Amino acid sequence: MSSNETIAAIATPPGRGGIGIVRISGPQASSVARQLAPQLHELKARHAHFSRWLDENGEQIDAGLSLYFPAPHSYTGEDVLELHSHGNPVVLHSLLERVLALGCRSAEPGEFTRRAVQNGKMNLSQAEAVAACIDAATLRAARQAQRHLQGDFGRHVDSLMQAITGVVAHVEACLDFPEEEVPALLFEQLRNEVEQRILTPIRQSLTTAGFGERLFDGVSVAIIGPPNVGKSSLLNCLAGHDRAIVSDTPGTTRDVLEVDFEVQGIPARLVDTAGMRATTDFIEEEGVRRARKAAAAADVVIYVADAARPDTWRPDDTVDLLLLNKIDLLPDAGVVPEGYLGICALTGAGVDSMLKVLAARLGAMPAAEEGILVTRQRHRQALERAAVHMEKGLTLLGQEDRLELVALEWRQAWSALGEILGIGDVEDILERIFSEFCIGK
Ligand code: GDP
Repeated sequence: MSSNETIAAIATPPGRGGIGIVRISGPQASSVARQLAPQLHELKARHAHFSRWLDENGEQIDAGLSLYFPAPHSYTGEDVLELHSHGNPVVLHSLLERVLALGCRSAEPGEFTRRAVQNGKMNLSQAEAVAACIDAATLRAARQAQRHLQGDFGRHVDSLMQAITGVVAHVEACLDFPEEEVPALLFEQLRNEVEQRILTPIRQSLTTAGFGERLFDGVSVAIIGPPNVGKSSLLNCLAGHDRAIVSDTPGTTRDVLEVDFEVQGIPARLVDTAGMRATTDFIEEEGVRRARKAAAAADVVIYVADAARPDTWRPDDTVDLLLLNKIDLLPDAGVVPEGYLGICALTGAGVDSMLKVLAARLGAMPAAEEGILVTRQRHRQALERAAVHMEKGLTLLGQEDRLELVALEWRQAWSALGEILGIGDVEDILERIFSEFCIGK
């Protein structure tokens, strides 16, 4: 399905850079090229043409590379023209204006990728992976997005859908016979098939969702604790540079400071809050108020205590991690009280172990075991729905006169998975059934 409208947009980010790209997709792409530059009358497919792009008065807008990708061998599956100009927003906008005046319209957000999906160049989960590749905040997230882009997740979902088609086909075939004639063994086989080839892999995938979603959504971590225990020092230690002002005057961190770091590939935003204590100073009071707010909103709250000040050792089960900082000053031959992780924010001692504990709390998987993760809430929910329908079908299987309902539940599971790939047509399942089973046999 190809659109009649030719769309155009600046494909590179706002701001100045070495190169900026205007992208054009649709049937008029080649005619736009010809009107834009006399050198482009002979457009060669997938060839970098150096050309001068002219405005309506014949004045040069810029000179750069024009690349033409005729349909269907392009990103969108349509004729695509890319103009690689200098990365100056003024030049790019005037180039885009000229292209629009030649009969294109401004592309909507994501419209190139939407056309790629419509034209069968990629499925919906791959289209989401395009966005994930652009948004990934850590290398590990970017690698995971690449796997999704290559279609590994889509193939996994597709294989689950094929397995469902198979079991539905068996049930549909049984519908032609009186139920008492269907051997019980067949139901047993169906049960095993559903458990092993469908439910087990779905459940396995779902176990990866916590980590997978965090890999892209990130987590916020709040550091709380009394003044002067070393919260800012810990923040600096994690950030690797002096972001916060460290001082031994209590109440130095009056506002909330944020630093981005990563926990085994999970992007984490660390929020250092003003020392939480009763205060009469207005500014510090505001800092404490913001600290409470930040802590309440954080995914993980770390409480820091001071090894040299037992008055700060307040076992607190409302927080996720209890740290005892300044273990270098610890009396009693360095015994860390139970429930605390000992660190020294000045030297970084114990910080690696702390990050490992944090990673485990966040469900981080060892890189070697990572494979394909469920990285989006939409995918997780579709998998969960599919599992529920498969389980309902299993409960109904073997109950009298319930075979049609079994088929219905399992078809719904199929549709739920189809949503992941952007397939929403039940006709397809019927077609497969009819192609695999000969009617009348
Ligand atoms: P905050 O008020 O909780 O943010 O505390 P700071 O990070 O400003 O630290 C308060 C003081 O404790 C500073 O003088 C730091 O140098 C010192 N400090 C922080 N961490 C350590 C540590 O691990 N060992 C020792 N000996 N001093 C530390």
